[in-house]
Amino acid sequence: MDAKLNATPTVTDSLIAANARYAESFTDPGMDARPVRRVAVVACMDARLDLHEALGLELGDCHTIRNAGGVVTDDIIRSLTISQRALGTRSVVLIHHTGCGLLNLTEDFRHELELEVGQRPSWAVEAFKDLDQDVRQSIERVRTSPFLPHRDDVRGFVFDVTTGRLREIGPEIPREQ
Ligand SMILES: [Zn+2]
Repeated sequence: MDAKLNATPTVTDSLIAANARYAESFTDPGMDARPVRRVAVVACMDARLDLHEALGLELGDCHTIRNAGGVVTDDIIRSLTISQRALGTRSVVLIHHTGCGLLNLTEDFRHELELEVGQRPSWAVEAFKDLDQDVRQSIERVRTSPFLPHRDDVRGFVFDVTTGRLREIGPEIPREQ
């Protein structure tokens, strides 16, 4: 507790400072927890994907549920189940993207982890080689989940990080263009 008191601020320190400025002009939006547009967006955690900007969403509009890859894991299903059953959402939008970090990984990642730390993770890496196919699989996982009462409006997309455009992926085998 000496020189470190004057240490360079960490990134977290800068976030806290930014929050103080944010809170100065923040006014209570007076919303409850139910998303206004009744939609849950499941997306990759990628830093280049600004969901609110890219989809024209405002504060309070939607649930955003994110993980590495935007993969529909059990925990995503858990969040979607709560989103639909407790908080009134009806639609699901799935977003993967070009240049995803998971495209460069394989399930060997798990094995390498096990060799390094002596413990195999209980989770799958869920790496993929084919973006479109992974979006289709994600759509299917949502559409076949018994926990979700609303599975009619489930659509999947690939976001191009270089153009900002979404490309919709059909749920089945791609049609001839
Ligand atoms: Zn990604």
